[in-house]
Amino acid sequence: MSRLAERFIDRPFIPEVSRYPFSVQETVVAGDLGQCGGVRMALKVTKDLLEYADGKIPIYANNAPVHNKLITEAFQAKGLVIEPEIDKILPNSIWILSAHGTSPEIVTKAKGKGILVVNVECPLVTRVRKEAARAEEKGEHVVYRGAKNHPEPSAILGGLKNPQSATFIIDETDFSTVRLPSERPIRVLNQTTLSTRGIKIEIDKLRDLNPGIKIPDPMGICYATDNRQDSLYGIFSNPQKPIDFLVVVGSKNSHNSQELKNIGVGFLGKDKAVLVDSPDEINPVWFSENIKRVGLTSGASVLDEYTIEILEWFRKRGSNLTFLIGKEDDPRFDDLTFPLPQNDIANAKAYLDKQNVA
Ligand code: SF4
Repeated sequence: MSRLAERFIDRPFIPEVSRYPFSVQETVVAGDLGQCGGVRMALKVTKDLLEYADGKIPIYANNAPVHNKLITEAFQAKGLVIEPEIDKILPNSIWILSAHGTSPEIVTKAKGKGILVVNVECPLVTRVRKEAARAEEKGEHVVYRGAKNHPEPSAILGGLKNPQSATFIIDETDFSTVRLPSERPIRVLNQTTLSTRGIKIEIDKLRDLNPGIKIPDPMGICYATDNRQDSLYGIFSNPQKPIDFLVVVGSKNSHNSQELKNIGVGFLGKDKAVLVDSPDEINPVWFSENIKRVGLTSGASVLDEYTIEILEWFRKRGSNLTFLIGKEDDPRFDDLTFPLPQNDIANAKAYLDKQNVA
């Protein structure tokens, strides 16, 4: 049984009569969905520090620690202040650096200024940054594919000694204008949350346009992104149970959630795949006619509680719920925990102790 299905066994079923016609007979829930190991780690650290400070001292973050609107609002209500500008952070402030990475230059500058940095960068982002630095060290040219305005590319490329060591490819890049050096080996890396299938197509395009240059396969998509996309393709690949509409639970600033929505748009068109944070963002009119089967998934920065609220919305209007089994339902994934930044946490707590807030 899937992790989410277990949580539905004992839940009371309270039907609700809708004012709108409701045609959904079945909601098919992806096997792999919801929060990943990196998000769990970032949430644990942020929650712990906010509780320790108890609202008496503000805790700063350079970005939303995880890309989820509801989680960020809940943290802000407990004293988290989002401040991306290092120049506005005073010495001895506690500054949480986000799960999707921060340029090492900023980390060093912050520590030099006496800011108490708590770096919750996901180890899978760190792995890509280290790969990029290693490639540069070996004299390879890095081709990095990332999303425009996402913090991860600056965390990765900011770790290089020489910006000329890399070619940065963003969403709108015209591949025909990309010039790769022919005298150095190429290393292809990408943002952890991109489309697994999309990046392969793009790299093939780059190969076609640079026939004399050996371009290896890309590396960087994390297990959580991969599993959630795979599960979603699984939902769409059952010809006995065609999906009419896709609901992705997640926030607009969550790149992996957006990629899940894009998969839905690819199968169903842009009016039949939506991204919502909570039930109040659902428009009942979407499900008023000819929508018999809805696919449902959630991004890697979404708590199960949020997904459950959306599932309840469908169940109480009369839709059956079908839970698929995912790779992460294997008990071995229960042990997938990422190490906490213990030294950073200890320094931050020692400072809070001195301020007598604990
Ligand atoms: S989505 Fe992937 S890279 Fe991002 S925090 Fe989760 S596990 Fe880490």
